[in-house]
Amino acid sequence: MKKIKWISAIGTILLLTACSFQKHSSVEEKAESSKTAPTSASTKEAKKQTGDFSTEAADARSTSPTMDKTVSYNGSYYSVQGKYGEVLVVNKHYPLSPDYNPGEDPEAQASLLELIAAMQEQGYAISDQYSGFRSYDTQSSLYQNYVARDGQAAADRYSARPGYSEHQTGLAYDLIDTSGNLVQEKKASKWLLKHAAEYGFVVRYLYGKEKETGYMPEEWHLRYVGKEAKDIAKSGLTLEEYYGFTGGDYED
Ligand SMILES: [Zn+2]
Repeated sequence: MKKIKWISAIGTILLLTACSFQKHSSVEEKAESSKTAPTSASTKEAKKQTGDFSTEAADARSTSPTMDKTVSYNGSYYSVQGKYGEVLVVNKHYPLSPDYNPGEDPEAQASLLELIAAMQEQGYAISDQYSGFRSYDTQSSLYQNYVARDGQAAADRYSARPGYSEHQTGLAYDLIDTSGNLVQEKKASKWLLKHAAEYGFVVRYLYGKEKETGYMPEEWHLRYVGKEAKDIAKSGLTLEEYYGFTGGDYED
């Protein structure tokens, strides 16, 4: 079981990043709490810290990914057409634009709170705290710190590059247990695989699907999809497989 160190800095709560990684034991992850005002204030804060890293990153990433036929792009994000509407797509192949800063999705958040309440009611040690929306700038700052500390190759294994974190969509959440750890407990993980879809969520990074998603399994990372989550969960497939879009690792 991994312990997360809670460190407070500039009024933010430190949480796990684009989530990540089992093997990285002393991850001092810095992310804003999803419950603090997510947009302007923290964005400015992050900019102060990173010295406008976001602009450099945006410039460096001028090449667009090769698009699958099912995928479309609206200038801010990639998406596929789901059964009940548009489904936003983010992975190491399909990034978000730096200025895509929607904050927490209210519908997703309301569903998450219901899911947490249901788990608590059934005796799971799930905290009311969770890690949700993370701006591009916050992710830049996080990632930069990791690169400075561990080098890029290592950082890429446990932290998403800015623009590539699903948390920037406002639709992704990391569940935290009552000890402050990311939820990894077996029964809780099983419950999530079975029931998260009832609340519109899928467990995004599944076991044995690293090649498809580009990420190690993360039992705690939920992605809001809405009604279609039930079909997806039933299929046992990743979003990449289910909708047929490219995933896996970064191309460079
Ligand atoms: Zn996450």
